[in-house]
Amino acid sequence: MSSVVCIGSLNVDLVVRVTRLPGTGETVTGHALERHLGGKGLNQALSAARAGGDVALVGAAGTDEGGAWMRTELGGEGVDLRGVADVEGPSGTALIEVDAEGANRIVVIPGANGWLTADYTSAQVARLGSARVALAPLEVPPAAVLGALRAARAAGMRTILNTAPVPPDGLPEGILDVTDIVIANEHEASLITPRSVDGVESAYAAAHALRDLGAHSAIVTLGAEGAVWSTPDGDGHTPAYPVTPIDTVAAGDAFCGVLAASLARDLPWDTALRRASAAGALATTVAGAAPSLPSAAAIDRLVAAHPLEDT
Ligand code: ADP
Repeated sequence: MSSVVCIGSLNVDLVVRVTRLPGTGETVTGHALERHLGGKGLNQALSAARAGGDVALVGAAGTDEGGAWMRTELGGEGVDLRGVADVEGPSGTALIEVDAEGANRIVVIPGANGWLTADYTSAQVARLGSARVALAPLEVPPAAVLGALRAARAAGMRTILNTAPVPPDGLPEGILDVTDIVIANEHEASLITPRSVDGVESAYAAAHALRDLGAHSAIVTLGAEGAVWSTPDGDGHTPAYPVTPIDTVAAGDAFCGVLAASLARDLPWDTALRRASAAGALATTVAGAAPSLPSAAAIDRLVAAHPLEDT
């Protein structure tokens, strides 16, 4: 029986390394073609599973070889994939060019992810109705996320919305009314509230604004400055864990997945936030997305090694 339901995108990330990015109409020679698991739904499901959660993923994969590959990899990590629809055609695919300095250019083809509807996600979430927590980022059609969180709220789950990425038309109308915890990074919080969010003080104001918009609780993540939160019981700041980052990809996904898995285990709020912050920190110490998502043991070691003072 699953304790966490993740609703979101599954992507095959194709990464080509180039000395320099090509200009319009130009051809450059690439070296090293890599294939990685990607997509925010997939990353967050994997993050929650590695942190010890019983996780089900609701989404869509294509009938191409990439779809089969993602299923094999996720199944091997214990993620329940019965809610992942087989959609005729290509899987979501990200074409990522990275130059020698680490600068990148990315084209994302939604593929099967674009097929998701509110009817599909709400029916799947209702089927998984005994789960404790539902977690959804916004990389699939916004109506499908709204439908999923409405169904999760109706089933009595704790609902978590990660606002990555903010849709071009803003958040779907009414979504924060069915959100227990909204998680936004500084950029997303700036777009939604709208106000300039840069650092701890402005993050408190943004967290309050997110609650005024309808969410019970709000968390604003601040990269190397940790995360600020506001709940009906009070506000606080969870500091970042000291690490030497080499690649910050998927820090937010690690944070969200581990928070969901920790709350599903009924861990106290402060403990869940510390584990999430530790997971985000650890994710920056390994290159890539999926390879960087830490195990429960690594998270708990980092938390134990650095007792943090909340501020
Ligand atoms: P996103 O990837 O969505 O932009 P953030 O960069 O805010 O999200 O990272 C999410 C969380 O991961 C942060 O709140 C923090 O706990 C942790 N984290 C991110 N970057 C670092 C870092 N450089 N050092 C320590 N922790 C970090």
